[in-house]
Amino acid sequence: MDFLNKINNKWIKKFSYPLIIAGPCSAESEEQIIKISTKLNKDYVEVFRAGIWKPRTKPGLFEGVGEKGLKWMLKAKKKNKLLLATEIANKEHAKLALEYDIDILWIGARSTCNPFTVQEIADTLKNTKKIILIKNPLNLDINLWLGGVQRLFNNNIKNIGLIHRGFNIFPSKIYRNLPCWLEILNLKEKYPNLPIICDPSHITGNSKLIYKISKKAINFGYDGLMIETHNKPEEALSDQLQQIKPEKLTKILNKILLNKKKKENFLKNLKLYRSNILEIDENIIYNLKNRLETSKEIGKIKKIKKIEILQKKRMLNLKKFYKNICKIYGIEDEYFIQKIFEKIQKKSLEIQKI
Ligand code: PEP
Ligand code: MN
Repeated sequence: MDFLNKINNKWIKKFSYPLIIAGPCSAESEEQIIKISTKLNKDYVEVFRAGIWKPRTKPGLFEGVGEKGLKWMLKAKKKNKLLLATEIANKEHAKLALEYDIDILWIGARSTCNPFTVQEIADTLKNTKKIILIKNPLNLDINLWLGGVQRLFNNNIKNIGLIHRGFNIFPSKIYRNLPCWLEILNLKEKYPNLPIICDPSHITGNSKLIYKISKKAINFGYDGLMIETHNKPEEALSDQLQQIKPEKLTKILNKILLNKKKKENFLKNLKLYRSNILEIDENIIYNLKNRLETSKEIGKIKKIKKIEILQKKRMLNLKKFYKNICKIYGIEDEYFIQKIFEKIQKKSLEIQKI
């Protein structure tokens, strides 16, 4: 991955620090685009974002306004002197975005998952001087993400950056997509040249958490933020719950940035490790809940089939299984793990007796 240290990070230095990209999840009407771009505070925001082609989970939902949205964006650029950014998900989008001279193109999380899609986009954008940002894939596969960067780089595209929008590890009740900060800071430590922007909107899925996550990202040393902003979030045609009004964005940025004009290095600090512990603990609790519910179902079957609840042979097999897994993961203190599972099994048996 040597090429990663050759990535040009000069482009990010042309912006003020931190680079703020803001605008709606989706372009919905010309009026909406002009309203939002006008209300954004230009002391902070340098790039206006809007999705024109929207990758939706289910068919039949709002899938974006298409090409006409690019025309609206150009009007917003002219009126408000903002650079423009939009998502591209195939070669037709890439061609159109170049044709309309959009300044920053980003590859969305769903597209990054598919090497064929990224390759097709990279081939179409060959030799471009535009800034190309690539969002992390949905799954926690850093190599797939960097592979996407390599596909761009191999096509003589040098102005590249990453967008961290969180990962779909388990259905968290706190985040829409888990941040996995530690993975990102490990990546940044290895490749300090790669500019990285945080997308608190898609990490949280929750307008109330945008301040907290934005602040964290800036404290960890991110190069910028991409925040979804809408004039009427409650009426937005996509991602309603996570969009904030331009006025709220200004308040958030005032609070975070007023005393923070200098970029710090990416810092691995106590706060980072503590955030990581919270994510891991939520995952443990989620899995424990699943385990207890599964146990309950087993209890029902045992009752119907009139099988003893405590099965000694099964217990011994599980002990062997844990021992083996400890070996695979290089956990030396196997006793610690066995003790935890004794407690979990005790609870499972209690549940089955009910
Ligand atoms: C978006 O930025 O609106 C978007 C669709 O993001 P992601 O690819 O992170 O889901
Ligand atoms: Mn969105």
